[in-house]
This record gives sequence, structure tokens and C-alpha cells, in this order.
Amino acid sequence: MPKDEINNLALRRELFFPSAEIYSSALAGFWEFGPVGQAVRRRLVDLWRKELVEKEGMVEIDGAQILPEDVFKASGHLSNFNDPIVQCKKCHSLSRADKLIAEKIDDIVPESLATAELDSMIKKHKVSCPKCGGKNFDKVKKFNMMMGLDIGATGDQKAYLRPETCQSIFLDFRRLYKNHRGDLPLGVAQAGKSFRNEIAPRNTLLRQREFGQMEVEIFFDQDKIDEVPLFEEVKDYKLNLWPDGAKGTKGISCSEAAKKKTVSGKFIAYYLARVQQFYEKLGIPVKKMRFRGLDKDEKAFYARETWDFEVETDLGWIELMACNYRTDYDLAGHAKQSKQDLSVNEGGKKFVPHIFELSAGIDRAFYVVLDLAFRKEKRGKEERIYLMLPPKIAPFLCGVFPLVKKDGLLEKAREIFNELNEYSFDVVFDEKGSIGKRYARIDEIGVPYAITIDYDTMKDNTVTLRDRDSMEQKRVKVEELAELLWKLQSEKEKF
Ligand SMILES: [Zn+2]
Repeated sequence: MPKDEINNLALRRELFFPSAEIYSSALAGFWEFGPVGQAVRRRLVDLWRKELVEKEGMVEIDGAQILPEDVFKASGHLSNFNDPIVQCKKCHSLSRADKLIAEKIDDIVPESLATAELDSMIKKHKVSCPKCGGKNFDKVKKFNMMMGLDIGATGDQKAYLRPETCQSIFLDFRRLYKNHRGDLPLGVAQAGKSFRNEIAPRNTLLRQREFGQMEVEIFFDQDKIDEVPLFEEVKDYKLNLWPDGAKGTKGISCSEAAKKKTVSGKFIAYYLARVQQFYEKLGIPVKKMRFRGLDKDEKAFYARETWDFEVETDLGWIELMACNYRTDYDLAGHAKQSKQDLSVNEGGKKFVPHIFELSAGIDRAFYVVLDLAFRKEKRGKEERIYLMLPPKIAPFLCGVFPLVKKDGLLEKAREIFNELNEYSFDVVFDEKGSIGKRYARIDEIGVPYAITIDYDTMKDNTVTLRDRDSMEQKRVKVEELAELLWKLQSEKEKF
């Protein structure tokens, strides 16, 4: 859906809105999630936890957001985590050099290109300042995106807000591995906030300075990159791969991708399949997805192989997850800086584990899910807006509405509401306004079902169950509601 429609809905229904908005000094690139937005965002993370962490036998940690300088010396962030920026000579506004050129030539420009190369591209393509249209720029400079802090009363302990959630996973590896029953692979996950001093935050949740990440780091033995016990489950599953240098995206089965070395091994293919399956569960059609293989200029400084998982929206292709084969870069770096041994000893072999990383943006996924779920339909003179969210990530599974407040209907509705809460369903109660308005209110935030308690309920103990997408209704016995809702939520049954 168009960007303005999302933003209007977001503000109207408290999905997300600017942080510190009552102050004129509010900072760009910081956003709040309102009650409805937070409910969807929480469920999205829960689904990630279920599908990519728990079902895959991984563990989850919650690490500190502030880490000492040494961590980022070892990780390479202090020297390498830079954006190329360029200043307009006329109006002095700052821009990302790579983005300016990319917009002008409508192609991808790697941010890792040398500054001199970016300088010449700006000249060659006659790039102009987005603010004043000027064509004279200073030389491109590298700008470090880390947000620094001084810790302690004397402020002599230099620290940084983490620019990614994965570093604490690497730091905790030795402890976690010791308590892990069995050998590698060991998958460790974390969901939380990260911070980057973006020069030009924009497109609301797509480029923020404080943002949510859900990351998985899988530690493994590189000699066993083709040993995956559960590979059978995915061997025929087709990945939408766009390898570096290929003409376009093609469905390639996991076994073919591993055999033809499109990916480094079965291990990589297996997790890419799990990733694609997870996003399918968010309601994203496979034809709108692709894994784009990055070339050497585009890859992050630590990656041997990178697949960016991207989804097509009205704003173009948006990256939702970076799948990075980081080799032993991280553990070797931290071992050197900390002077600690981070190797493992398995089967008489001592080695530093390799890492495959699945690094996803929470808020980006949230935005893309909204974009794809948005529906606007004309019905006669009326306009109907609804979000076709999958039941698992909807803010509530159903609304409970008494038709009127009198004659015992309100009490009966409360009884059903309480009962459904006992079963741990997320339900919302609403007794205000006409029934049509109540339906419209929950349609707009993507609640898939509504239960109405009417005069027949008092006679035969049945309720009306309404489906958001089709607006069809059917009578259901109250004692059968919980089981039916469970089946609908887990998509074991269609309405
Ligand atoms: Zn300018």
C-alpha cells in the first residue's frame, strides 16, 4: 500500500508515531509503538521465537545494550562501521553518498566503495543535492555510525550503545557452550534494540536510529557444513534465490542449491529454507520474496557469503534479513582482543567455530507486514479498510461484542470474554457504538474474528462468529468456541 496510507493508519490507530512529539526538539529516526502496534510487534517476535529459535532447538539470551569499547575494537566496528557521507557546498546539508548516487542511477551502489570512487560517480552522473538542487559537493567522507557513551562518575570508561544485537552472543559463547549438552552446532538468539547514528533516517520504521533486531547466530564446525540431520525435511523445498551474477530470481530446491554450490553447503540451504518458511507464516507471498546474493563490494566486512532476504513492496524491495556466513571472524577477533581461548575441542579436534547468522529487523518486518496486509475496498458509498493479518500476529484474535447492554447481554458477553481469557486467547471487549462501527474498528487493526452476543444467545447459548476478510457470519455453540478459535488461530481450519 502507498506509504501515506500506512502512516495515516499508523497515527489514527496508534500503531506507531514519532517519539517525543510534543517537543520541537524531537529527534528524527526514533519511533514509539502504540498499544496496537506493540501488540502486533510482540506477536511477530513471538512467532520468530517459536519458528526459528524454539523449533530449531536454539537458546535465547537477553544481553546488555551498552558494551565496552574493547568489544567494538575486536568486532571491527570502530574502524569499519562507516557510512560514506557527502556535504552540499551550497546549503551544507549532509547526505549518504551511496544513496544519492543509487537514486540517481536507479541501481545498487555498494556503501563499501572507496570514497574517491564515490566522488567520481557523483561527478559523472551529475548528482544533485536533494535539498537545494546544487551540484557542488565536498569530498565524500567516512562517518562512523556508533553512538558513544561515557560511563561512571568520572566518565573515563568509554562505551557504546550496541549497533547490532549479536556481539553479546559472541561474548557469551564460551559460557553457553559449556552448559550446552552435546556438540556443535549451537544456535543462540537474541531480540532487542540496536542503535546506529544514521545520517538520514527516513521512511519511518525502515531507517531508524534506534531499532529492533531479532538475530540468530549458529556456531558450527566448518568441516561439517554438509552434515544437517534434518535436511530431509527441506531438501525439495524451493528457495527463491538470486545468486550474484545471475539474471534474476529462480526457485531452486535446497538439495540442488547445496549440490551446485550455489550456497556454501547444506547447512546454509537448510537455514535459508527455515527463513523463507518463517516469512511465509507472516503472510508474505513467496512470489514477493527473494534471497539476493551480495557481491564482494556489497557484503559486510566480516562476511564470506551473504544472502539478503528481500520483500517487494510499494516502496520497492526491502531487506528484512541478512543471512551472513561470518566464518570465525567474530570469535577469533574477540579471542585476540580479550586474550581468552574461545576455541572448542570436539572429537580430538581443536578449532574456532564458524558462524552463520540470521540477522532480521523487527520494525522492518512489521512495516512490510502492514504494507502487504492493507486492504481498501469500496462497498457502494462506503469505504472499507482492513488489515489482512495472519491470526498469529493480529493484535487480538477476536472481539467480543454484546449487541446491546441490557437484558443480561452485557453480563453474558463478559462471561464469554472471561472464559476465552482463561484459555489464554487475546480478546478485546467492546460494548460502545453500533455493531457495524465496532466491526469496522477491529477490521482496521486486523483482528480476524468477532463474536456477537445477541438475544438468541440467551435462548440457545450460541453466538455469531464473524470473519474479517469475507465478513461472513455463522452461529457457533458457546461450548465449542474455544476449540474452534484455536483451530482458526493455528490455521488448522478455515472459517
Ligand atoms: Zn544543497
